[in-house]
Amino acid sequence: MADVEKKETVIIGAGPGGYVAAIRASELGQKVTLIEKSDKLGGVCLNVGCVPSKALIAAGHRFREANDAVTYGITTQPATIDFKKTQEWKQKKVVDRMTNGVKMLLNKHKVDIIQGEAVLDSDTQLRVMPVGPQQFMSTNTGTTIQFDNLILATGSHPIEIPGFKFEGRVVDSTGGLNLPEIPKEFVVIGGGYVGTELAGAYANLGAHVTIIEGLDSILNGFSKDMVSVVLKQLKKKGVDVHTSAKAISSSQDDSSVTVTYEEDGKQTTIKADYCMVTVGRRPNTDDLGLEYTKVKLNDHGIVETDEQGRTDSPHIFAVGDIASGPALAHKAFFQGKVAAGAIAGKHTANDYVGVPAVCFSDPELAVVGLTQAQAKDQGIEVATAKFPFAGNARAVSLDQADGFVRLIYTKDDQTILGGEVVGPGASDLVAELSLAVNGRMNVEDISLTIHPHPTLSEPVQEAADVALGFPTHI
Ligand code: FAD
Repeated sequence: MADVEKKETVIIGAGPGGYVAAIRASELGQKVTLIEKSDKLGGVCLNVGCVPSKALIAAGHRFREANDAVTYGITTQPATIDFKKTQEWKQKKVVDRMTNGVKMLLNKHKVDIIQGEAVLDSDTQLRVMPVGPQQFMSTNTGTTIQFDNLILATGSHPIEIPGFKFEGRVVDSTGGLNLPEIPKEFVVIGGGYVGTELAGAYANLGAHVTIIEGLDSILNGFSKDMVSVVLKQLKKKGVDVHTSAKAISSSQDDSSVTVTYEEDGKQTTIKADYCMVTVGRRPNTDDLGLEYTKVKLNDHGIVETDEQGRTDSPHIFAVGDIASGPALAHKAFFQGKVAAGAIAGKHTANDYVGVPAVCFSDPELAVVGLTQAQAKDQGIEVATAKFPFAGNARAVSLDQADGFVRLIYTKDDQTILGGEVVGPGASDLVAELSLAVNGRMNVEDISLTIHPHPTLSEPVQEAADVALGFPTHI
């Protein structure tokens, strides 16, 4: 007979949703237990997602810059790369450092960490099954836990498509991040955020990359003129992009994989070193025992919740990729804090209007709030104002002057409803636009805020000047 333990607040999953919820719940005075089945803390984001992908992208930029340095009178080329060392740096100096940091923070907040796989028995009870090598504080595995409050933060996993089983040289994003060598030929199926980011990274590292995308554009959902800036750069790197193309099948031997795809009714094969499939992710809600609870799922396996993340079982919350809203780490962070606050009786709520979305392509794309089309669909009369990086001294001196900032604002009182940035530093610039959207600021608020010169932030102010009809640098 298994032991039964009573716990106050239990969290399943130590990714961005779960570990941040754990810290906030502890800060709000709760006794917190965090259950994680992996031997690593930090979830997808820190281990095989946001963080290692940005490390690989950074390495790719450095390599390309070294080879391109001759443009600035610097001779380093041809630069060489020891990819094993790149991978070691990514793992030890970036990923391990960040995941150890999470462990330290959880310890500091006295969060009790249990390693094991949690499965629910009812709305108030779960079991923790032992899994894998036990790395941290795992004396409680094999126990039954009764909880007062539960936060589900179990994340998501990559989708497999017919003809492309993840094995050998057909890899998911995790395999794509951990390739043992830089492929000479690399096929990427799915030109969404992840596919486009890693396609760009490997192209910078010297691979010849082919993207096969089923829709009529890569980075679907971003405005077409933003995507065309990225396409221009991909083309410059020699990346072949096939849109409205269907991946049909793959076959492999010890040294290569052959990918067949169909475009305009014609089938083509490519022989490559690796094929990465990044066509989306599915929430991890299948094997959690939710059928023994009142928790409801929608047709996509996403947990249905109210604006605080509360499920139909009033003491069970869901955050992160298994909950509504974009599947992004910063959304998971926020939902984790909201759920922890709700458990503590605070009037917290999720609001997705001002959640920025970023693709770390080359150049980066970042959006927040409404696009012009979305505003129109909602019957809101909007105007837009755009300022190009070509008019910005910093972007020109960085030799990265492609792209623009666009503000989307109401016609009547010029309230900023959305912002779009494609260009250098877009991932950082969008934070100002998020503040503007969340704070219901108008274009004058931005125009009257002095931005430092010469910086990449100035195009935001200049776009506001364009909106007011007094542009300076165009
Ligand atoms: P996860 O990070 O998936 O963590 C869930 C955790 O729960 C895992 O550790 C898992 O082991 C554990 N778990 C699952 N089931 C159980 C169980 N039954 N018992 C115990 N433990 C369990 N987002 C961004 O915002 N910016 C980016 O730049 C970005 N880049 C990305 C790049 C890649 C290649 C990928 C794949 C994703 C990227 N994302 C990015 C998305 C981001 O990683 C996710 O949105 C985020 O990790 C979701 O957090 P989460 O807490 O919901 O779940």
